[in-house]
Amino acid sequence: MKTKKGIAILGSTGSIGTQALDVLSLYPEQFELEVLTAGKNADLLIEQALKFKPNTVVITEETLYQKVKDALWHEEIHVYAGEDALCQVVESTQVDVVLTALVGYAGLKPTIHAISAGKNIALANKETLVVAGELITQLAREKGVNIYPVDSEHSAIFQCLVGEFHNKIEKIYLTASGGPFRGMNTEQLKHVSLEQALKHPNWSMGAKITIDSATLMNKGLEVIEAKWLFNLSASQIDVVVHPQSIIHSLVQFEDGSMKAQMGLPDMKLPIQYALTYPARLKTPYPRFNFLDYPQLTFEQPDRTAFRNLNLAYKAMDLKGTVACTLNAANEIAVDAFLNKRIAFLEIAQLNEEVMDAITNTLNPKLADYINADLLAREKANELLK
Ligand code: NAD
Ligand code: MG
Repeated sequence: MKTKKGIAILGSTGSIGTQALDVLSLYPEQFELEVLTAGKNADLLIEQALKFKPNTVVITEETLYQKVKDALWHEEIHVYAGEDALCQVVESTQVDVVLTALVGYAGLKPTIHAISAGKNIALANKETLVVAGELITQLAREKGVNIYPVDSEHSAIFQCLVGEFHNKIEKIYLTASGGPFRGMNTEQLKHVSLEQALKHPNWSMGAKITIDSATLMNKGLEVIEAKWLFNLSASQIDVVVHPQSIIHSLVQFEDGSMKAQMGLPDMKLPIQYALTYPARLKTPYPRFNFLDYPQLTFEQPDRTAFRNLNLAYKAMDLKGTVACTLNAANEIAVDAFLNKRIAFLEIAQLNEEVMDAITNTLNPKLADYINADLLAREKANELLK
C-alpha cells in the first residue's frame, strides 16, 4: 500500500513553490514529489527536477519545451509543455494533493481539473477563489475534496477552527501588515516608485502579490478568499492592520471568545500545515520570542488612500462575475505598474473603471467567468492605451 502523500506543485519555481520544496525535503518519509511545473523559468525547473526527481515536469511556456526535454533526457522524468498539460498532470493517479502555487487567473483551470479528479487542494493561488469561488467550492463539495488554505491569514483562521466544527463564527479579523506605504495619504502615494512598492516590510514574495500588498488589493482578494473558504458573509469579515505580522488572523465566536493564531512570519508553516493537516510536524525554524516584540499594535486600514479594499467589498456585494472582472483588471494594472507604464494610484483607478464598465453576470457558469475575464482584460488594455 502507498504510504507517502503524492504531491504536485504547480508553480514550483516561485516564492511559495520553492518554500514548499524546502518543506518537502524536511520530511522525505511523508511525501512523494510527483509533479513540478513552471511558467517560464526553465533553468530553475530543470535544477529542481534534477534534485528532486519528480515523475513529471511541465513548462507552461511551450517554446521552452525542448530546452527542458534536452536537459532531462537521461532521467526517467516525463516532460510536457503548455496549459493543457497542467490540467492533465494534476489528474494523475499518483497525485493526492495539488499545491496551487502559480499566480493569477492561470490557476483556475488546473484547479478545476484537480478537484474534478478528486484531488485535495493546498491552495496558495487565492485568485482562483476570487475569480470563481462559488463554482470551486461547490465542485469541491460535490467531489468530497478538501481545500486547505496556504495563505497565512486563512491558515490562521483554519487553525483556530480546529475542534470548533459545531460552533458558529460570529466574525473573523484578517490581519494586514499595511505594506510599505502604511500611513501615507493620497498626496504622498502619488509619488511612490516601483522600487519602493517592491520592498515589503515583513514578507519576501513574488512580484504580483508584493504589489497587491502595497495597494491593499491583496487584503481585498483575501477577504473574498475568506468568504468562500469559510462560508461567511461580507459583514462577518473585518480587516485590521497589524504591522508586526505576528498575529496571522483571528476568529470571534458567538460567545465573544476570540482565538488567534500567531508566530513569526514564515510561509513555510502554513504551507506545511496545508500538507500535513491535522498533524503538526516538528520544524527547525526559529521560534517567536515575546521580548523581541514588546508591542503588538493594531490600526484601521485607510480605505480612502487605498481604495482597492473597498472595491473588493463592493465586488462581494454585487456577486456574480464582478470579482472575476476586478481580478482581471488588477492583473493587467499590476503588470502595467511593474513595467512602469502607470503610477501607483492608477492601479486602483483602472480597477474601478473596468469594474464599472463590464456587465455583471449573476449565477455564473464557467463560460461566464472566462468571458468576464476576457472582457475585463480587453477593457483594461484599451484604457491603458
Ligand atoms: P511567484 O511569482 O513567485 O511564482 C509564481 C509561480 O507560478 C512560478 O513558478 C511561475 O513560473 C508560475 N507561473 C506564473 N505565471 C504562470 C502561468 N501563467 N502559467 C503557469 N505558471 C505560471 O508567486 P508567489 O509569490 O509564489 O505566489 C503564488 C501564489 O501564492 C499567488 O496566488 C499568491 O497570491 C499566493 N500567495 C503567495 C504568498 C507568498 O508569500 N509568496 C503568500 C500567500 C499567498
Ligand atoms: Mg496572505
